[in-house]
Amino acid sequence: MSFLTLADVSKSFGNLHAVADLNLSVEKGEFVSLLGPSGCGKTTTLQMIAGFVQASTGRIVLDGRDITDMKPNQRGLGIVFQSYALFPHMTVAQNVRFGLDMRRVGKAESETRVREALSLVRLDALADRFPRELSGGQRQRVAIARAIVIAPPVLLLDEPMSNLDAKLREEMQFELRAIQRRVGTTTIMVTHDQSEALSISDRVVVMEAGRITQVDTPYRAYERPENRFVSEFIGKANLFSGTVVAHDDANLHVTIGADRIEVGRPLHPHGESVAIGDAVTVCIRPEKVRLDVSGNGRVSATVTSRFFLGSQWLYRVDCRLGEVLVCCQNEGDEPIAEGETVGIDWKREAVRLVGRDVHHA
Ligand code: ATP
Repeated sequence: MSFLTLADVSKSFGNLHAVADLNLSVEKGEFVSLLGPSGCGKTTTLQMIAGFVQASTGRIVLDGRDITDMKPNQRGLGIVFQSYALFPHMTVAQNVRFGLDMRRVGKAESETRVREALSLVRLDALADRFPRELSGGQRQRVAIARAIVIAPPVLLLDEPMSNLDAKLREEMQFELRAIQRRVGTTTIMVTHDQSEALSISDRVVVMEAGRITQVDTPYRAYERPENRFVSEFIGKANLFSGTVVAHDDANLHVTIGADRIEVGRPLHPHGESVAIGDAVTVCIRPEKVRLDVSGNGRVSATVTSRFFLGSQWLYRVDCRLGEVLVCCQNEGDEPIAEGETVGIDWKREAVRLVGRDVHHA
């Protein structure tokens, strides 16, 4: 049995199925992110774990205890909201101590625990300040300290970085992960930011319209997306619709217009069942496309636009397969000009089968 289990959990608001038949197991000490577009049910799922929203059906089991019908305070989970919800009239130390006072923890112990929590988030020096006297990142750290000081079995974070600017956000991502590693608290974070989820989670739960579409390590979700939605939501993807024309032990052959593309094994989880004549979608990541300035390569293409990303160049090229995104390392060379003719190519292993239409083509 996992540390936290959601079994067939659903939530409906009237006719709207915000979360449908969700099954998820989280291990002790894991950092799991719920990731997906706006309205896909991430917050509702988190709120059901917290107990602020009652599940319509299903069970939630924490460390062997069924908590489905418990009130939020009985569950004793640590929660960090998007707004941080700090008490403005209390100092940093008082904010952090609040949960301990509610639990009637003795003065001496609570002072030690507050000191430890503040030291963990590196706010020892600011214990006597009020929230209004802090920066966004410092406020967020107070909210984290306040949540972890009660030593909760699970820490729930709802878009904890969304109020921070890009630079601070990145810093806090590293910091949050480091704090979580040190304390070892099982953590579930809601985010719609895929790069945030990929960089700090042990596993990502990708959701679409109230359902889970893939649960995997960040690396596998990116490298082996199980469907078209995940391939597009996590990272950039060149997607091509084609038809299976041959299927042998070594490869799957797919025609895309007049081109024949080989899809390397292992195939998509449902890939073994594809048959000749099936309509499928294949994905090639932009950084897996090789770009040849002398025009050699599998397909001839014209550069239509380019974007400088610092460490990389992102090119948009036009070719008989349609528009293709190509990501190249910035090696310090002159970038390729818009309008130039290039060749593009890729390795067979770079091609992933990410979708299969139910109807035969
Ligand atoms: P976001 O990233 O925008 O916060 P989300 O993935 O967290 O989105 P939820 O807040 O879980 O999505 O909402 C899922 C669906 O349920 C949405 O269609 C939302 O409008 C609906 N919903 C959420 N809470 C309620 C409520 N209390 N009453 C009615 N509908 C609700």
